[in-house]
Amino acid sequence: MTIFGKMFARVLPDQAAGRLLDYRVPESMADSIGIGSRVRVPVRTRLLTGTVIEMLATCEFKSVRDVSQLVDEKPMIRPALLELARWMADYYCCPLETAVCSVLPVAVRDGRVSVKKQNSVRLIAPIAEEQLEALARKAPRQADALRVLIKAGGPLPVSTAADQAGVSDSVFRTLEKNGLVVIESAVVGRNPYSERFVPNAELVLNAEQTEAMVAVREAMEKPGQPILLFGVTGSGKTEIYLRSIRESVNQGRTALVLVPEIALTPQTVERFKSRFADMQDRIAVLHSHLSEGERHDEWHKIHDGSARIVIGARSSIFAPLENLGVIIVDEEHEGSYKQDEAPRYNARDMAVLRGAREGAAVILGSATPCLESWHNSQTGKYRLVRLNQRVDDKSMPVVRVVDLRRQARATPEGGILAKPLYEAIEGRMAKGEQTILFLNRRGFSTSMICEACGHVCQCPDCSVSLTYHRAAERLVCHICGHTRKAPKACPKCSDPKIRFAGVGTQKVEEALKKIFPKARIARMDADSMTRKDAYRDTLGAFKEGKIDILIGTQMIAKGLHFPNVTLVGIVNADLGLHVPDFRAGERTFQLLTQVAGRAGRGEMEGEVYVQTFTPFSPSIQFARHHDFQGFMEQEMEFREKFAYPPFGRMAMITLRGTVRERVEFSAQTLSRKLKSAARKGITIGEGVPAPLEKAKTYHRFQVSMRGSSSMHLSRLAKETLETLTMPEDVFVAVDIDPLHLM
Ligand code: ADP
Ligand code: ZN
Repeated sequence: MTIFGKMFARVLPDQAAGRLLDYRVPESMADSIGIGSRVRVPVRTRLLTGTVIEMLATCEFKSVRDVSQLVDEKPMIRPALLELARWMADYYCCPLETAVCSVLPVAVRDGRVSVKKQNSVRLIAPIAEEQLEALARKAPRQADALRVLIKAGGPLPVSTAADQAGVSDSVFRTLEKNGLVVIESAVVGRNPYSERFVPNAELVLNAEQTEAMVAVREAMEKPGQPILLFGVTGSGKTEIYLRSIRESVNQGRTALVLVPEIALTPQTVERFKSRFADMQDRIAVLHSHLSEGERHDEWHKIHDGSARIVIGARSSIFAPLENLGVIIVDEEHEGSYKQDEAPRYNARDMAVLRGAREGAAVILGSATPCLESWHNSQTGKYRLVRLNQRVDDKSMPVVRVVDLRRQARATPEGGILAKPLYEAIEGRMAKGEQTILFLNRRGFSTSMICEACGHVCQCPDCSVSLTYHRAAERLVCHICGHTRKAPKACPKCSDPKIRFAGVGTQKVEEALKKIFPKARIARMDADSMTRKDAYRDTLGAFKEGKIDILIGTQMIAKGLHFPNVTLVGIVNADLGLHVPDFRAGERTFQLLTQVAGRAGRGEMEGEVYVQTFTPFSPSIQFARHHDFQGFMEQEMEFREKFAYPPFGRMAMITLRGTVRERVEFSAQTLSRKLKSAARKGITIGEGVPAPLEKAKTYHRFQVSMRGSSSMHLSRLAKETLETLTMPEDVFVAVDIDPLHLM
C-alpha cells in the first residue's frame, strides 16, 4: 500500500535478534531523518533505540507505527560505514545489529553524553590589508582582534581570541555589531592533548624513502592495491606516514592512522601532533584511556568534518571520516588489531576493505609483516615497498644468544641473568648508557609449586596456575583476576616446602635491585602502570636518563625510541615458543625483532642478549641474524605443508557453559552437523576441549573449520547454527580468521 507523500524507515533495533522493522516517519522528522539516523521506535510495549538502515517510499504493511523520536538531529552513520558493517556481519558471522553498533562508540550510540557549548567567533568575509590599516588608526584594539582571527584562519572560542589579541570580549561584540564577525554558540571539544606542540620540520628523504613516496602518490591517484611497507626498525617508516598524511591533506582529503593500542603513547601522538602543529585542532586522537566525554567530542569532531586526521587504535577504523586519501596501519602484524568479541574483525583487513571501497590508498607498515600480508605481497595482491637501510646507515644491533643450558648461572639471585648478560649490563652502566630488560610475563613467579607433593596452586575458575605477586603477597589469576592470599604451606599436604617456579617481571626487578644496588631501576607492566600518568612519567624519566635499567613486558617492546639505550636483554625467549598455536614461531620471531629494535637507536651501537634454553629454534636463529626472508621461507614451507594460513583459511567455533557435559555434547553435535553440511574442500574438526579448558568458571570446547575461503566457512557456520538449538546455558562464539586458538 502506498501512502502518498509519506515516508517509511526500515529500522534495525540495537537488540534486534536480526529483525528489521518498518515505521512511518512523522512529518516533523521528514527533513532530518535519513539512512544512518539513530531513532527510538516502539516494539511491542517498549521503546527501543535503533538505526535507520533504509528509507522507503512505500510500505507493504497496512498498519505501521510511527518513529517515536530522533536521537540526534542528523544521521550518525554514513552510508559507506553502514555498508562496511553489513559486510562485516556477513564475513565475520555476527548479527547485523552487533556490527552496526560497533561502528559507533558507546558514548555516541545512545546520545547520553551532552556536548559542551561555547561562544566562538569567526570572520564573515576576508578583510583587506588597507581596511585593517584604516581601522587600526581609529580603533587599534579592533584591528588587533581581527588580526588574530585572520591568523587563525577559522573560528576561535571568543575567550581564546580575546586572550591572544590582548583585548576584552566586548571588542568582538562591537565587531559583530559592525558586521565584520559572527559570534555563534559552537560545540567545543574537551581536547585530551591540549598542550601546544613545537612544529617539527619535514626531513630530507633518503633514496629508499623517496621511492616509497612515489609508490604512495601512485596509490593515492590510483587506489586498489594496498602497499606493504616493509622496513626494518629505524628505517624511517614513520616519516613516510607523515608525508602521506600531508599529501592527503594537501589534496583536500583526510587521513586515518591506526596504531596498536599499546603503541598509542604520548610519544607517538606527539610525533604526529608536532608535525601537524599548523592544524592541531584538526587532529583527533582515539584510544581507550579517553573519558566518555572526550571520546564523544573527538568522534563528533570527526563526524562534523572539523578533524582531517585521525590517529587511533583498532576501533578507529570506523572513524566517520569522509573523502579519505590514505589509511595507514602501523605494525600491521600486531595481534591487537583483532577484536576478541563480536564482531571479531581484524582492523588491518577492514582497512584494506575500506580503502578499496572509499578510494583511499592503504599503507600497511611493519618491520616484521605477518605471513598473510607477506604472502599477499608475493602474489601481487599488495605492492611491496621496502626500506632496507636504517636511517643514516646505522647498523642493526648485534644479537648474542645466551644458551642457558650451558651457562653456569652466575648471579646469586635465582639465576635470572646468566653471566654474559650480567656483565654486559655492568659494562653499560659504567659507561652511563641505558639498558632495557624484556620479559613477557608479569608478576613475581609464575606459579607456586609444592616440592613435597607437586601440588600447583590453580585458579578455581580457570584451567591455569595462579601467579605470585610479591608486593601484595597474593596469588592472582591472569585470566579472570581471581586473587587470594599466598599460602605459607601447601594447601594440599600442608608441607611448608611450597616454593615458586618461574620468573616474572616483579621478580626480575627485585633480583636486579640486589645485583646492582647502585642502579636506578624501573618496571613497566600492567601491574605497575595502573596510575593514569604512570606510563608517561616513567618513560619521561627514562628519556631524561634518570633510570639506568627499565624492565618490562610487551609494553616496552613497541615503538619506543631512546637514543641512549645500547643494551637490550631478553630474559627468557622461550616463553611464547612452546604454546599450542601454529603461530608461536612467528610471534616469537616478531617479538625478538621488535625488542631488539629498541637497541642502538642513537649514535652508539646497540647490543642484544637473548637468553634461551632452545638456542637452535629457527625463530631465535633467524631473528639473531636479522634474517626476515630466511624466516619467511622456512615458515611458509611449514604453513603450506599443513595448509595453515595463508595457504588455507580457518574458523574456530568456541562453545562455553557451566556444565561440562552439556558443552561437550553440544560441541560434538555441532561438529557432526557441520561435517554433514560441509561441501568438498572444507574440513571440520571434532568437538574437543579448548587449550584453555576452563575460563571464568566456564568449560570450553572447540570445533575448528578449515577451507580455502573464509566467507564459505562463515556461511556454513551461520547456516548450521541456525538449524541447531543449543542448550540455553551454552554460548557459542564464531571466530573467522582467528589469531588466538586458546
Ligand atoms: P621506523 O618507524 O621505521 O622505526 P622512524 O620513522 O622512527 O623509523 O625513524 C627513525 C629515526 O630516524 C627517527 O628519529 C626519525 O626522525 C629519523 N629519520 C627518519 N627519516 C629520516 C630522514 N630522511 N633523515 C633524517 N632522519 C630521519
Ligand atoms: Zn581465573
